Amino acid sequence: MKKGDFHVHSPYCPHGSNDSMEEYVRKAIEKGMDYLTFTEHAPFPESFIDPVPNKDSAMSWADVEDYINDGLLLKEKYKHDLQIKVGFEVDFIEGYEKETTRILDYFGTRIEDSILSVHMLRIGEQYVCIDYSDEEFGRILSLTNGVDSLHRLYYQTVKRSILANLGSYKPRRIGHITLVEKFRKKYPATMDFTTEQDEILSLLHKDQLELDVNSAGFYKEWNENAYPPQPLINKAKQLGIPLITGSDSHTACHIGRGFDRISW
Ligand SMILES: [Zn+2]
Ligand SMILES: [Zn+2]
Repeated sequence: MKKGDFHVHSPYCPHGSNDSMEEYVRKAIEKGMDYLTFTEHAPFPESFIDPVPNKDSAMSWADVEDYINDGLLLKEKYKHDLQIKVGFEVDFIEGYEKETTRILDYFGTRIEDSILSVHMLRIGEQYVCIDYSDEEFGRILSLTNGVDSLHRLYYQTVKRSILANLGSYKPRRIGHITLVEKFRKKYPATMDFTTEQDEILSLLHKDQLELDVNSAGFYKEWNENAYPPQPLINKAKQLGIPLITGSDSHTACHIGRGFDRISW
């Protein structure tokens, strides 16, 4: 397996740390990585209103060029030590597929690797962000008639993200496919979603997409599992889906964190 961290944020993330991109690079080298992909939260479509209280889910349009340029400079500077790619974690937002395609087309030729993730769900006419906080998750449950229907909606939305036509620059990797479990110990689902999860894996397999094996969940107090948990990682492996390690670091010292807790 390639030793790398393929899901990493940067100081351009408004809810992350101010660690410079170079600090992430140095930390990756120190940890013996061969690869590092920056996947900053791509800016939202202009017409989409960030539903979280601080409106800090994604990077701003004003920073995009600096982010890409900083990444490309580091790629060149450290090319003998580490293979750096600059990309984005792009939100799949139901109803904003056209706008998202335009964003992907705009970055397209300049990025080498990216992730498509679901953080936002459409409930009726409104959008919610499921991973913002446990309090917010609790509030969202009152909009969905409980935790099981929220899980069902989440997995449906992930499936739609895989099936969506987002043009020729659609990311080849799907992010943290069980993010809805972030607060599972506080708000446990009563139903089993193995069928939905298996469907997602078979869609990934069919479309030859990669799976973001995201270790950040180990460190969330209400989760303490990888996204996805080990049994799903095992199934994905059996199907031959490429498993791509990601720490989802928002601070340099978290690079590669928890990869040793996953059995490959
Ligand atoms: Zn983030
Ligand atoms: Zn994410």
